[in-house]
Amino acid sequence: MEFTCKICGNKEGNKFYTVREMQFGTRDEFVYCQCSSCECLQITNPPENLSKYYPKEYFSFQINKEKYLKEKLNIYRDRYALGINNFIGKFLYKKYGEPTYVGWLKNTEVNLNSKILDVGCGFGKLLFRMGNTGFKNLTGIDAFIERDIFYKNGVKIYKRNLSEIRDNYDLIMMHHSLEHLEDQHAVFKKLSSMLESGKHLLIRIPICSSFAWKTYKENWFALEAPRHLFNHSLKSLNILADKYEFEVVKTTYDSRSIQFWGSEQYKKDIPLMDERSYFVNPDKSIFTSEEMNEFENRTKQLNKDGEGDQAGFFLKRK
Ligand SMILES: [Zn+2]
Repeated sequence: MEFTCKICGNKEGNKFYTVREMQFGTRDEFVYCQCSSCECLQITNPPENLSKYYPKEYFSFQINKEKYLKEKLNIYRDRYALGINNFIGKFLYKKYGEPTYVGWLKNTEVNLNSKILDVGCGFGKLLFRMGNTGFKNLTGIDAFIERDIFYKNGVKIYKRNLSEIRDNYDLIMMHHSLEHLEDQHAVFKKLSSMLESGKHLLIRIPICSSFAWKTYKENWFALEAPRHLFNHSLKSLNILADKYEFEVVKTTYDSRSIQFWGSEQYKKDIPLMDERSYFVNPDKSIFTSEEMNEFENRTKQLNKDGEGDQAGFFLKRK
């Protein structure tokens, strides 16, 4: 089989893998290619109608509606973490630590007035929380949601593609959305045009330069065939960053233990949404609590060692 890498153009020595849809368990097969040069893993035969693979449940199980009180308390903690002093927030911050997203934002030099775009935001869960905290200029886009959403706190979510956006931003974020987009060069070119020199791009993606890909191959949970069209390597992401005038200023690893238990389940032909899945029925799962603890511990170690299968890249426009 011949395939030209869509990132670096290499044709020689590429490897092919047949991967099944295992999140919902349709088990439809897709062929992925790993480029022998830039190591990017990419789908060779994306389905014509991709939206068929984004059923409503795809979003709803990610949204986890937060309780009213918890949302209110988050506001205090988030504000304190951002330097807005308050007594309740200080207490919660000491008890629960820094909210993860505040840690991300601290690497991007934004403030409450910054103009921020979240690309592929689903229902905009993160933006909604940021809006509650006091960020005033938040926009999200997602091509797969049903319609536009306008939250009372001012957050606007549009059903749109990146190519339709004309504005410039102080920060563009992509939380696990880049891997779903078809033309990676076009995406980076567009992102580059929307950020002036010194502005930031935060990209969080699965990464195949990882223990989980090397170990599980076709059964790697994060492959997510066919929705993930690209699963970047460190090298392929850097090729795009370089070409479109970005400097990678920081990389953090935030892989989760699902890299182990999800992949182990796929190896045993158990889809994520199956009755036997830990995700659906933790009590009936095939893993003991000792095994689950071990997956957690190994995940922490992989993140420390830079071998986790999810990473956050902080890029700065040159
Ligand atoms: Zn390549």
